[in-house]
Amino acid sequence: MCWTMESEAKDFIRQRIEKEQAEGQLPAGVVTRFPPEPNGYLHIGHAKSICLNFGVAQEFGGATFLRFDDTNPIKESEEFVRAIKKDVTWLGFQWNSLTHASDYFDALYGFAESLIKEGKAYVDSQSAEDIRNQRGSLTQAGQDSPYRGRSVADNLDLFRRMRLKEFADGEHVLRAKIDMASPNINLRDPVIYRIRHVPHQRTENRWCIYPMYDFTHCISDALEGISHSLCTLEFEDHRPLYDWFLDNVNVGAHPPQIEFSRLGLEYTVMSKRLLHRLVEEHWVDGWDDPRMPTIAGLRRRGVRPAAIRDFCARIGVTKQDNQVEMNLLDFCIRKDLEDNVRRGMGVLEPLKVTISNWPGPVAMMVGPWHGKNAELGERELPFSGSLYIEQADFAITPPKKWKRLSPGETVRLRYGFIIRCDDYVLDDEGQVVELKCSYVPTSRSGSDTSGIKPKGVIHWVSAAHGVPVEIRSYGRLFNGANPGADTFIDDINEDSLHISNGIVEPEIVNQADRHWQFERQGYFCKDEQMPGVFNKTVSLREGF
Ligand code: ATP
Ligand code: MG
Repeated sequence: MCWTMESEAKDFIRQRIEKEQAEGQLPAGVVTRFPPEPNGYLHIGHAKSICLNFGVAQEFGGATFLRFDDTNPIKESEEFVRAIKKDVTWLGFQWNSLTHASDYFDALYGFAESLIKEGKAYVDSQSAEDIRNQRGSLTQAGQDSPYRGRSVADNLDLFRRMRLKEFADGEHVLRAKIDMASPNINLRDPVIYRIRHVPHQRTENRWCIYPMYDFTHCISDALEGISHSLCTLEFEDHRPLYDWFLDNVNVGAHPPQIEFSRLGLEYTVMSKRLLHRLVEEHWVDGWDDPRMPTIAGLRRRGVRPAAIRDFCARIGVTKQDNQVEMNLLDFCIRKDLEDNVRRGMGVLEPLKVTISNWPGPVAMMVGPWHGKNAELGERELPFSGSLYIEQADFAITPPKKWKRLSPGETVRLRYGFIIRCDDYVLDDEGQVVELKCSYVPTSRSGSDTSGIKPKGVIHWVSAAHGVPVEIRSYGRLFNGANPGADTFIDDINEDSLHISNGIVEPEIVNQADRHWQFERQGYFCKDEQMPGVFNKTVSLREGF
């Protein structure tokens, strides 16, 4: 399949900014933010938002905030904060300011009091369940809370005492007083503060009341002077609320909220809540398991930042929700590695070859690290009388058009000699365990005068010099292309990890490079944590 870049036309957000800039509507420039909640690791969906927010600011000479949306202390942790910073940096972006929603807890509290004083917020003392039951439905208006008419003085007193830790979790909430009959359910007196006696990773025990997302987010945007608050489509229905808060608190700025579609990717799940379950229930080996769609998992599998940025550029930014094919991501990964990483020889399922007429000493062969990129240099390859080739490169009775080795036939060992298979050895179970071959002394690669034209070229490693390694190949994590949020556990592919004992030419281990092509086998990457383990990043071609 051939993927071409979408036309160079700018997406609707960039077009809008271009127009605003041309019309002089952005006196303070373009300011964006990426606002993750530190309740899990970032995934490739977040990468789309990162590339958009940082990308737009870069292109228009603006600035980007990395803002941790840390208003829910129950689920958040420092580990996630560290991982998020690492991943954003690794993707190639640098924030101009690092902030936290919790930096604004005092300011937010002040704005909440001001809403109360203006009769625009009230303390509700009903249970969460009663409040939910009174919200109504799409076809039915909500019901007023019996506490909706509380006096300003009572509301203020109760809210202050909520802050002073006089009440237990759930005893009261603060609600905005908007419209219980609004066709938009988000405007039916949403909760803006709740009591949670939980220490916060940054503010520790200072607060026992925490602001809700909708209240916090718009005010944080305004306080930071964000020029374009870019979020995903599920917040479209929250936009009237975003605007209501900014119209009703005196924060002095009113950024526009602009929605774009969420990235969905086939054969995986993309919500932190679901990814959490995969980690906690040990379906995978942590957030950075190479099968995970997390940035950390992709990195560990051997994906490089340029591939992810390219992928995000190709999927574009629209208002249509879409499910992107895994093949597109694989295409981008391959494209990034193809011309830029060294190509060495690694045998994944070794079959021993003994060269009966080999005179004894080791001969050093020479081969380029990349057939089309001379800048990557060349290396020496030890050739000896005992080698390994791939089990799959030999067949006793080959099919038609076989371009590898079979009894009586010849094959070229890449950058080495031509060999002929004279005999093979079977074990008790009838498996081929060794080949007896002879080499053609005049067939050395580069100075071949033998006149023999073998049908194929295969990779190999000298047995005495090769380094044993563990090779991990990964299948899809799910059997179905669209694992459902409720049923995804049943859809897990239990056979998604394949481990084999391979052997690679010594220079692959000696060189500092992490990323490699193993000729004819695919792209592989040295594992970040386990020495001697190579993760398969992607196959050489689609469909392998
Ligand atoms: P999740 O459900 O995975 O936790 P989230 O939207 O709750 O996602 P946040 O940490 O709140 O995660 O997201 C930070 C930013 O990343 C938000 O602006 C959000 O819109 C964006 N984002 C999250 N998932 C995607 C996605 N799949 N595609 C595009 N943007 C996304
Ligand atoms: Mg979230």
